[in-house]
Amino acid sequence: MIQSVIQQELVSKKFLPFAVPDIDEDDIAAVIGSMRSGWITTGPKTKEFEEKFAAYLGGNVEAIAVNSATSGLHLALEACGVKPGDEVIVPTLTFTATAEVVCYLGAHPVFTDCDPNNLNIDINQIESKITSKTRAIIIVHFGGLPCDMDKILAIAKQYNLRVIEDAAHTLPSKINNVLIGQHDSDAIVYSFYATKTITTGEGGMVVTKNPEIAKRCKIMRLHGISRDAFDRYVSTSPSWYYEVVAPGYKYNLSDMASSLGISQLAKVDLFHKKRSSMAKRYIEELGDLPLRLPPNVKNPVTDVHSWHLFVINILVESGVARDEFILRMSKAGIGTSVHFIPLHIQPYWKEQYNLQSGDFPNAMHYYSGAVSLPLYTKMTDDDQSRVIETIRNILT
Ligand SMILES: *Cc1c(COP(=O)(O)O)cnc(C)c1O
Repeated sequence: MIQSVIQQELVSKKFLPFAVPDIDEDDIAAVIGSMRSGWITTGPKTKEFEEKFAAYLGGNVEAIAVNSATSGLHLALEACGVKPGDEVIVPTLTFTATAEVVCYLGAHPVFTDCDPNNLNIDINQIESKITSKTRAIIIVHFGGLPCDMDKILAIAKQYNLRVIEDAAHTLPSKINNVLIGQHDSDAIVYSFYATKTITTGEGGMVVTKNPEIAKRCKIMRLHGISRDAFDRYVSTSPSWYYEVVAPGYKYNLSDMASSLGISQLAKVDLFHKKRSSMAKRYIEELGDLPLRLPPNVKNPVTDVHSWHLFVINILVESGVARDEFILRMSKAGIGTSVHFIPLHIQPYWKEQYNLQSGDFPNAMHYYSGAVSLPLYTKMTDDDQSRVIETIRNILT
């Protein structure tokens, strides 16, 4: 009975999903081309995707394609020498992948609250989290708003820590005229999951300027097989010969996915232009309502927000609770989401590390009113008008 009422509502008002990938005929042709070529696993298309991705970031980096950002983060930490018992500082306001990869290596994530002004890791709290066991920091550019990399890299240098950027949201964010991907972090890891700013269905990229890290990631992404050993012997040995130098992983990206990546990468600036103008419209047309707009870049001349996410906060004075807001949006046929449920209140992390809500007041305050609005290139102006009108109706 209730089910059929809900179904009727969904049929009567066309449902606007929270996110839809932007796949056009060129993308489809690229994937079909790869399927017809006779080479579908990692091969020439993956090499081309890596080269074009590195070139997009400025050319002086190496890019290593992987089958997800999660596997990329794992490889990056492994290449940085993270060992059992080590500690890695991570934000609490992120997706669980950022923290789980630390556990893959037997190390421990050390959760840190966010800065209420930008929702990124609170840089002022990093030093208080450092112990003799701290090996690395993973930062997240939340929603695509870049972290202050100069400050983070300075702290890391002072305490001899490795820095990995979870850049799942950042293509193409910039700070102080420097593209995320170009800083001297040990590794920068991108995601091409279906909802991200470009997609390969599933996929990711590890970017680094450090040749040692690049070499280790390449070996470990494919069963610990050393290309160097392979290349050294290939001329004098039969073609079946290879050498295993470590118990590696199976994290390579297929040529079918890479073909989609090449085609999507060609549109990244176009996509970004559209996302930016949609964000601008939300900012202009929602600003007078009892909600907090997402934090924006400090300097609009030198900094760029990728607008992967558009996170608003429903203020208490609106008289509408966050959960009710989401329910009413959904009844009006509009999908929303919440980024993120802070990790320190997730059952596993909370129990494993005995975490207290009160220790992360900024993330908790943000989370209580947080809603992510639909913002993607497939949305039309009319779709966005509908979202804006619905929010106005609910909040006024
Ligand atoms: C999406 C996401 C990931 C994981 O990306 P996958 O490619 O799905 O592994 C990691 N961190 C953050 C912050 C993300 O949003």
